[in-house]
Amino acid sequence: MVEAHLRVQGRPLVRIGCDVDVPLIGAIAFGLIDRGTNVIQVRPISLCVLNCIFCSTDAGPKSRYRQAEYIIDLDLLVEWFKEIAKFKGDGIEAHIDTVGDPLLYNKIVDLVHELKNIREVKVVSMQSHAPTLTEKLADKLDAAGLDRLNLSIDSLDPNLAKYLQGTEWYNAKRVMEVAEYIVKNTRIDLLLAPILLPGLNDHEIPKIIEWGLKIGVGKKWPPFGIQKFIRHKYGRKPKGVRDMSWREFYNYLRQLEKKYNVKLVCTPRDFGIHYKPIIPYRFKVNERVRVKTIAPGWLKGEVLAIPLGRVCDRVITVVNASNIPLESKITVRIIANKHNIYLAEPIA
Ligand code: SF4
Repeated sequence: MVEAHLRVQGRPLVRIGCDVDVPLIGAIAFGLIDRGTNVIQVRPISLCVLNCIFCSTDAGPKSRYRQAEYIIDLDLLVEWFKEIAKFKGDGIEAHIDTVGDPLLYNKIVDLVHELKNIREVKVVSMQSHAPTLTEKLADKLDAAGLDRLNLSIDSLDPNLAKYLQGTEWYNAKRVMEVAEYIVKNTRIDLLLAPILLPGLNDHEIPKIIEWGLKIGVGKKWPPFGIQKFIRHKYGRKPKGVRDMSWREFYNYLRQLEKKYNVKLVCTPRDFGIHYKPIIPYRFKVNERVRVKTIAPGWLKGEVLAIPLGRVCDRVITVVNASNIPLESKITVRIIANKHNIYLAEPIA
């Protein structure tokens, strides 16, 4: 039974491995995700302190759709990661990405260190807007073995950045200082990953490229990973953003490639990403499964559940479950299972 003693940003913080035991495969908001490549996504925490106006995961204090946040015990996370790594074999990239900001994980340095010491792991990388990153923490992450930081910085103009990050205290100049420190003083490879919001920050993208080239980002991997804005069902949709087709997006990148003589259109191969067999699926779409509800789901109306009477190493998110209390035994129908991320609905 979950006893979510802590509340953060007005929502319960579910401490997995402490308040409740939940399988670390099967959910989008926490744990481990294997999408059938050599990359394993690592999600130790779901929290974020920013409120980016384009956030695809509706993170931060102003979240409208979330009802719970998660943090995972370090030893439990590493134990589960090792099991997957053993299955996948050598040449793994552990990519700490999360639906929030991984730097908020209190044991982030230990996590990087532990992942880096796993025999099958070749690369440890992380994705963050890094509002809380300091030179001292960067040094620790470097010593722990972080190979690459994908730094999301969407504007160099401090006022526009505050607006885009939806946060008055966000300090783009400070993030730039730490980025420059990383390039000069650590072995961490820096990749700049701004999101292109046509109509809002298109004029900032060339400036970000110029700044990145000046400080020397991307020594081992491509220096930039410019992202296209995509509208998500529960994501934020900023006003004033013009929709852009994929063709227009790539044309835009190719023009900038010519102008700055730098690679901007990247493929998985540029990052050493390749196919590797996916870990076994446990449930098929349309399958009926008897489950027990064990913890609040990530979004409103959802609850987390585990299967009853069979192997219990995948968590299932049950939707349309507002009226189902925890500890209930119910039957659900699996409605999605892509990459072992399981969604189900109750059967009346
Ligand atoms: S885009 Fe990233 S940094 Fe911004 S609110 Fe969402 S999770 Fe946080």
